[in-house]
Amino acid sequence: VTERSNSLQTYAKDKLSGQMVELFEECQQQSSDLDRKETCRTRLQQDIQQVYAVARLYLTGSSMNGLGCRSSDADLCLVIKGNKRHDPIHVLSVLQRLFKSLSYVERTQLIRAKVPILRFREKGSDLEFDLNINNTVGIRNTFLLRSYAYADLRIRPMILVVKKWARHNQINDASKGTLSSYTLVLMVLHYLQTLNEPVLPSLQRDYPEWFNPFMDIDMVPEGPKHVPPYISRNQSSLGELLLGFLKYYATHFRWDKQVISVREARALPKNNSQEWRNKYICVEEPFERNNVARAVHEKIKFDAIKAQFAEVQATSVGYRILQQRKDLNSI
Ligand code: ATP
Ligand code: MG
Repeated sequence: VTERSNSLQTYAKDKLSGQMVELFEECQQQSSDLDRKETCRTRLQQDIQQVYAVARLYLTGSSMNGLGCRSSDADLCLVIKGNKRHDPIHVLSVLQRLFKSLSYVERTQLIRAKVPILRFREKGSDLEFDLNINNTVGIRNTFLLRSYAYADLRIRPMILVVKKWARHNQINDASKGTLSSYTLVLMVLHYLQTLNEPVLPSLQRDYPEWFNPFMDIDMVPEGPKHVPPYISRNQSSLGELLLGFLKYYATHFRWDKQVISVREARALPKNNSQEWRNKYICVEEPFERNNVARAVHEKIKFDAIKAQFAEVQATSVGYRILQQRKDLNSI
């Protein structure tokens, strides 16, 4: 049995890995950042309940899933239960009017996307919010991602660095036809699930009761408390995993033939169904099973994304450092 450590330093003995840990420690969301978001959420929920008495407001996305940076926005989902179907645009315009009267909110903007949102800021700060109505899948997948984030010590630094790398290279913006952060996270998890010695299992397969798509929404945030850490035999360093991830998508993954499924912890063959046909990148939503990468619909953007993965293979300083370390170790 290999000795397992509960310290990140075990996985950060080479230079690249050390740099990853440093970046993670500098950028990860602090508890004071979360407190600020939570204070605002509570206040907003109280004000919204003046209009929608039974509504509940949930923080979702990277603020809650353990994968947030200090600069991350706060995603919110307003859940209005009941038999009546609420038109999201209607509810958001009611809220927009309400928010204009609140002293602590500014710059409200209604965005009519596939999932419509109200975007606004906390007055006098750079804290930005995106609020949707009844898009409860976002609550379920936030807590699934949270369970993955804490299943192994390496996941959070690894994903933070990939998000920073993608943003730096302008391939992390779904509104501009590239990858959403959510898609990037699923791509990293897929890589870690499909290594010869996996770093992660399929949590939906191993804990179906906690990731049941029909579970009452109020129970969903409980899930992560019941999922124990995964014990992997894979002891790769952070740097090795990062370079392996880039290499996997640069050379192994077949974009034209495969669908990424974190739900099944494998690549599914791409069939001819409407969801996958003529799509450049296919990443399955773990609960709804639709394509979360559908924003990538222009060939030029797809090529730009692939070029970034290929670029690293050709030029990575990190790659050279890691190679050198291996060479030094072997003499
Ligand atoms: P960042 O730190 O960059 O804000 P994020 O983790 O908040 O990253 P986003 O891509 O902004 O990621 O998405 C926010 C949340 O919205 C996700 O965590 C997920 O819950 C939900 N979400 C985003 N895209 C989809 C989608 N296509 N289908 C279902 N849920 C989605
Ligand atoms: Mg976000």
